[in-house]
Amino acid sequence: MPLFAYFLLWFGVVASGASVFFFSGIKARVLKLLLAFSGAYLFALCVLHLIPEVYSSHSKTVGIYILIGFFLQVALEIFSEGIEHGHIHVHRRHLHAFPLALMIGLCVHSFLEGMPLVQHFSDEKTRNSLLAGIILHHIPVAIALMSMLLDSGIRKGSALFYLILFACMAPLGATASNLISENNVSNLSSYFNNIMALVIGIFLHISTTILFESSEEHRFNYYKLITILFGAGLALISL
Ligand SMILES: [Zn+2]
Ligand SMILES: [Zn+2]
Repeated sequence: MPLFAYFLLWFGVVASGASVFFFSGIKARVLKLLLAFSGAYLFALCVLHLIPEVYSSHSKTVGIYILIGFFLQVALEIFSEGIEHGHIHVHRRHLHAFPLALMIGLCVHSFLEGMPLVQHFSDEKTRNSLLAGIILHHIPVAIALMSMLLDSGIRKGSALFYLILFACMAPLGATASNLISENNVSNLSSYFNNIMALVIGIFLHISTTILFESSEEHRFNYYKLITILFGAGLALISL
């Protein structure tokens, strides 16, 4: 993976998180549409690109790893309180405590997501789509994280530090995969296939949750529908 991709992965999080400093109230409606878009894109990415890729190996462990990823994300959200969906479920405005568990859950999530990025894909477009999916879905997450950190009463400098820490996780995951692949030549394809399946499980969980949560009381919303179609369409045209 080119160095520039590592940078994009990092910069996407830092830039969107730091935007909270400049635009104090990013319109909730815009943020919701962005969320619906990223959820739809992530879901379509799984179905159109990633799932066919891992199943083409005909390995029996693929399905098991997808399930492990799915339930791992369920477990991670006990810690992260679902900030991976790009919103804050628990309002801790008056708590004034650093949300350590949330930070750990989010960092593990992000680290895992970075791991399959450096593998050899049968189609280079799949890597770019995966990269775009991670960057896109981390934009609302970074905004939610930053807003929450500032609300928790810690200093701006510390908040920025934790944002940068989160930003480093996906590139670090990719780097870890590179190190593993250098030292484990024998079973490389099955390693990458399993880690990709794990991340698919994570994606399936968060994308469906995002889409589910983005519809308020199941009311019909044209803007949201169009946004979702665009999100899925973007994954489709890159097929
Ligand atoms: Zn949620
Ligand atoms: Zn993520």
